[in-house]
Amino acid sequence: MTLTLGWEEWVALPKLGLPAMKVKVDTGARTSALHAFTIEPFGPKGRQKVRFGVHPVPERPELEVYCSADVIDRRDVTSSNGEVETRYVIETPLRLGGQEWKVQFTLTDREGMAFHMLLGRQALEAFPGEPPQVVPTASYQQGQLGYDAYDRLAKAKPSKRSLRIAVLTREPNSYSTSRLVEAGENREHVVECIDTQRCYMLINAGKPEVHYDGRALPYYDAVIPRIGASITAYGTAVVRQFEAIGSYTVNRSDAIAASRDKLYAHQVLAREGIGMPTTAFASSPKDTKDLIELIGTPPIIVKLLESSQGKGVVLAETKKAAESVVSAFRGLRADFLVQEFIKESGGEDVRCLVVGGRVVAAMKRTAAPGEFRSNLHQGGSAVRERISKAEREAAVAAAKAMGLGLAGVDLLRSESGPKVLEVNSSPGLEGIERSSGKDVSGMVFDMIEKRTASLVRRRRRAAT
Ligand code: ADP
Ligand code: MG
Repeated sequence: MTLTLGWEEWVALPKLGLPAMKVKVDTGARTSALHAFTIEPFGPKGRQKVRFGVHPVPERPELEVYCSADVIDRRDVTSSNGEVETRYVIETPLRLGGQEWKVQFTLTDREGMAFHMLLGRQALEAFPGEPPQVVPTASYQQGQLGYDAYDRLAKAKPSKRSLRIAVLTREPNSYSTSRLVEAGENREHVVECIDTQRCYMLINAGKPEVHYDGRALPYYDAVIPRIGASITAYGTAVVRQFEAIGSYTVNRSDAIAASRDKLYAHQVLAREGIGMPTTAFASSPKDTKDLIELIGTPPIIVKLLESSQGKGVVLAETKKAAESVVSAFRGLRADFLVQEFIKESGGEDVRCLVVGGRVVAAMKRTAAPGEFRSNLHQGGSAVRERISKAEREAAVAAAKAMGLGLAGVDLLRSESGPKVLEVNSSPGLEGIERSSGKDVSGMVFDMIEKRTASLVRRRRRAAT
């Protein structure tokens, strides 16, 4: 039976995540065209891809679907005003009237057209079987689809697509960054390392942008922030800018900032009823004595609020020692907290890696002999560890309380159950992957793929 087509039809491009579009069947044209915007090539030579936005419903410009496809050709087209435009050609299955076949489309940016897709002769000739017959006076010979499919898209299972992902890092060659790039590329994504400190921003209501090396950065489907403690303020501002643009961020800027501030983080964990060592904090030097007494009998821990890698953590064996450490920190105008020393943890802590609300790997870190800090940077060693249900629950609750999608939660084992020490928003991957043998980097991408599953991105509007 011959496929009969009217001059206008409903079609789907399932591979691109476009369940319904109206198409103009134009036998006067040779090639087919898909109207796209922000057309961006990406990917390595020889495997070039293109990512583009489509407004599938001409009357609903706020509905944007982001697609990606392999580039099969590129053509330079000279327009009537002499400008040369590179048009990318993609090939993707077209579904029409119960049939599906591969069709080539050129991508062009031509807003304001009544149809956002044109089907030319070449597409009809590619039909496997007798070529479809076009009745130029008829419409919708193959039935109507309707646009409500887009309202259900958010819940639908996504079609696999290549994502463009940025890793914000100052250490492109570190183990963690290299593994993230490798894991992403294994899944056909394009992963680019962006130096956080080299990002500069154009902050305006209508069209927020991030610039880099003289150019506005493209749209990233997802951003993996690896913000070092020394650049928290600027780094979180960069992440916030990507959020304003509409990228999915593995950890949001406010969650990174919250987890970096040890005092605030402790308040949040306490509010959520999560076990932690008793912690006290004061501003005035007049209260030093009383502050130390609140914690109880020494030894006690004195900790810089901005400590990382164990560098700002001191164990004071006596009250006198505690007082002099506190006054030294005060003299340096450094913010600190004092904390109950969990002696029974015996120089060990447990790092739980939480990805998307699940503990995916855990390791036990043991301090070097004579040391109480178990940080790997302080010579600690790591081995794979089985954790208890209570520990698992504490780690998941802590990551959730801080709002982190990817978190390293450090627990001490005490007589009264797990005590959360800190929630790290840029956990190193080397120790945990090597000790557990798990592909934690891959699991980060599982989460990204899930969270970017909806192809529909609704731009944040200014002033609404
Ligand atoms: P940092 O952010 O610098 O890593 P942490 O608070 O994680 O600071 O402390 C570093 C290490 O010191 C911990 O991993 C743990 O081994 C030890 N430590 C910290 N606080 C305590 C405590 N209250 N009781 C016992 N050991 C602690
Ligand atoms: Mg730590």
